[in-house]
Amino acid sequence: MSGRRLRDATLLTLLGRDPERHHGIVNPPVYRASTVLARTVAEYESRRTHEGVTYGRAGTPTTFALEEALAALERGHRTLVVGSGKAACVLTLAALTRRGDHVLVVDCVYGPTRRFCERVLRRFGVEVDYFDPRIGAGIGELLRPNTRLVFLESPGSLTFELQDVPAIVEVCRRRGVLTAMDNTWATPLFFRPLEVGVDISIQAVTKYIGGHSDLVMGAVTTGAELHSALRDGIYEYGAPAGPDDCWLALRGLRTLAARLERHQRSALKVAEWLAARPEVARVLYPALADHPDHQLWRRDFRGATGLFGVVLRPCPMEAVHAMVDGLELFGIGASWGGYESLVLVTHPERQRTAVPWQAEGPTLRFHIGLEDPDDLIADLEAGFARLRRAAG
Ligand SMILES: *Cc1c(COP(=O)(O)O)cnc(C)c1O
Repeated sequence: MSGRRLRDATLLTLLGRDPERHHGIVNPPVYRASTVLARTVAEYESRRTHEGVTYGRAGTPTTFALEEALAALERGHRTLVVGSGKAACVLTLAALTRRGDHVLVVDCVYGPTRRFCERVLRRFGVEVDYFDPRIGAGIGELLRPNTRLVFLESPGSLTFELQDVPAIVEVCRRRGVLTAMDNTWATPLFFRPLEVGVDISIQAVTKYIGGHSDLVMGAVTTGAELHSALRDGIYEYGAPAGPDDCWLALRGLRTLAARLERHQRSALKVAEWLAARPEVARVLYPALADHPDHQLWRRDFRGATGLFGVVLRPCPMEAVHAMVDGLELFGIGASWGGYESLVLVTHPERQRTAVPWQAEGPTLRFHIGLEDPDDLIADLEAGFARLRRAAG
């Protein structure tokens, strides 16, 4: 088997487990630990924090099983899992920058990542600028001698613009600037940042890898050169993922390919239906042919997941509330990537500074879960009837 290149769906069933070490039991067990005993003083004193099982905060065999699986999926050298997706984003920024450095962050970045830059990075003397998601190779004009890192997220949270990641990476590599990418939307199944030269790939495991809306975790994957610097930096913050959550994430991984296939198929069907509705101005989903970045998506991605935005035609906010509040199959809630559908009213204009966000009307974000898409469409159809009635 080792001679063949296995495909992702197969890898997902094999990675991070070793039944022979566990009495033939298929899944690795949960090791819960703070203390890890040594046999002698000499053994204790010879321990190195990052080698093997030394202390609960430095990871347990359950943690390492998940990290090994994620690193293989990302085609990376090593993965570090941490206590949340937000921690994965912000600890990357914190671990790799120092006072006087300059960081460039994409303008459509996840809101809490932007908030960390504003409230914490700046306080520690790091300069932060935001850039147009569609800047491409033009990023070169924004690089300064002290630019340390460019932070990408493609497609962007809420607005779903893609970045030309290979073009940005090429310029940054030439100028010796690191690139990090929050790849939560695509997962490593539909886009692998390290394969196009991004230095750090970030995943909110909370979303599709967890897949069941019951855990919070993040993962950071790099090649060999960057691993120890990032590991040492992140370890200083003492924010590990718990072993029970690592076990749940491993369980989620097993079905990731099957779930994503279904999310994608249903999301495309619902998005196309929405795009044809008279109440809808635009659907923000890169898999649709009229999305402004559709060609980039086709060039770079192997698929689209279940999350997209919808810009409605101008209508009163009360009418939007009447529509959304009455939906039966869409929960109103943050996070996504679970088996169930979700909806949010979003306000992208509140977190843009480089390029103002302009929309015809109110903006929604949908996550399309694993329900039958025809049931979701019927629910939305009744929602639009409420919207029209409330709009008068
Ligand atoms: C949810 C999310 C995060 C943060 O993940 P948490 O586990 O909720 O902290 C980071 N980036 C993106 C793009 C996300 O959607």
